[in-house]
Amino acid sequence: MNSPWPLGRCFFSAKFPWLNLPPLGAVQRDLPFRGTYLFAFLQERLFPEGCTLCGKILESGAGAFYGLCAPCRKNLESLMPEPDTGRRCSLCGRPLISERETCLSCRNGPSRSFDRALSLFPYAGTYRNLLRAYKFGRRLSLGNFFAKQLLRGYKMLFPATSGQPECWIPVPPRPGKIKKTGWDQIDYLARLLERHGADPPVRRCLKRLSSENQKELNRERRRSNLKGRITVKEGPRFFQANFFKEGPGKAGTAEGSLQGKAYPVPKTALVFDDVYTTGSTLDACAEALKNRGAERVYGLCLFYD
Ligand SMILES: [Zn+2]
Ligand SMILES: [Zn+2]
Repeated sequence: MNSPWPLGRCFFSAKFPWLNLPPLGAVQRDLPFRGTYLFAFLQERLFPEGCTLCGKILESGAGAFYGLCAPCRKNLESLMPEPDTGRRCSLCGRPLISERETCLSCRNGPSRSFDRALSLFPYAGTYRNLLRAYKFGRRLSLGNFFAKQLLRGYKMLFPATSGQPECWIPVPPRPGKIKKTGWDQIDYLARLLERHGADPPVRRCLKRLSSENQKELNRERRRSNLKGRITVKEGPRFFQANFFKEGPGKAGTAEGSLQGKAYPVPKTALVFDDVYTTGSTLDACAEALKNRGAERVYGLCLFYD
């Protein structure tokens, strides 16, 4: 028997279909977990928002949880790449139109620091509206939908148990972004992954130094804008007073104590972001990690532009 709650599946789900509890064993590393549908359902009943795309009233727990009705979800997921179907660029993961292994921009562009990336949906039409509703309209339930897609993308990037990354790393926001907009949509996805027990864990070990907004720049300038502007965070102050151990500086000197120890950098990491445009953000993240000892860095983005 799959479900640890047989009665919940047989009796209650027949009587209250909106409960629709997923069997626990099947969702160890997936969204959603027990109870979250019910909470979302009650929230939707109290503060109805409707489906983000078609505006239909959300009557099921799953619909309320994802902020999308079942037909809209099915429609969106139908364009999701499947592991064995649809040819994708072996480097950036965008769909291929030619018979080559890599896409035109990867062949003609500068070499990449990341090893491989995958982007899921085209950043156009409905998908664009979806991201805008999440990012600017703060439709937080869409975060659940995106987190679920990230988990699906993860399984596509790493179908085998070997070679899996040690952690998820969110692309860090620009300094002052949270102060200005009140939140960071990537970090919110990281929090959702954590809340649902992401395995491997999430590590926020990157930070972005001040740079111009990538969206306002052309393709050439995007790359130079981020050059060296993403770095690995230093460790907490507590660990920086490293007088007696060998550190990056000379032990026992002012240099050693101030420079301190950086956070341990994972050997293999998966960096995730919302939109893949030129790949320069992922590239800057991968470069920063590899400069500090990472061996393989993968990228996962929700959309490709
Ligand atoms: Zn809908
Ligand atoms: Zn490519």
